[in-house]
Amino acid sequence: MAGFFSLSPFDYYHRLSPKLQRVYRRSDELTEVPLPSASTLRPLALSAAEALAEDRQRALETACQKLVDGINEQLGAPPAKVRVLAKRPSRTWGELHGLYEPPDDGRPARLTVWMRTAQRRQIVAFKAFIRTLFHELCHHLDYEHFGLADSLHTEGFFKRESSLFHQIAG
Ligand SMILES: [Zn+2]
Repeated sequence: MAGFFSLSPFDYYHRLSPKLQRVYRRSDELTEVPLPSASTLRPLALSAAEALAEDRQRALETACQKLVDGINEQLGAPPAKVRVLAKRPSRTWGELHGLYEPPDDGRPARLTVWMRTAQRRQIVAFKAFIRTLFHELCHHLDYEHFGLADSLHTEGFFKRESSLFHQIAG
């Protein structure tokens, strides 16, 4: 989900259990997702950008799925299913940009991203869209690749999200 701290990171950290504090520190130390061959993935990001600009939902989902498959393959991480949906859900707290759902009962992890804003139904800017996809993928990688017991919005987490963005779509 879109990450923000309602508490300062300091207060947040000190309210965690000792076990979660260890997870937090480990998460914060991991600042990169080194891809062995990021350049091979850039054309997929371009396809996704074109499909988003042309409002082609299925083509966008296919490009995003190939991109996520490529990243997971390069890292040796298990696959995740990508869903691209039309309009962001909104509630009183704001609107949802993306969603990570862990593997469940034989179903692989699922990453959901939305193409359009809730309020004005405008197509989301590509940078925001792809960063959301990478954000949700980072939750997947926290559990399935980095072996973290929880996936927390640490500074390291956001650096990993940026690391993917700069290697593939920057
Ligand atoms: Zn999140």
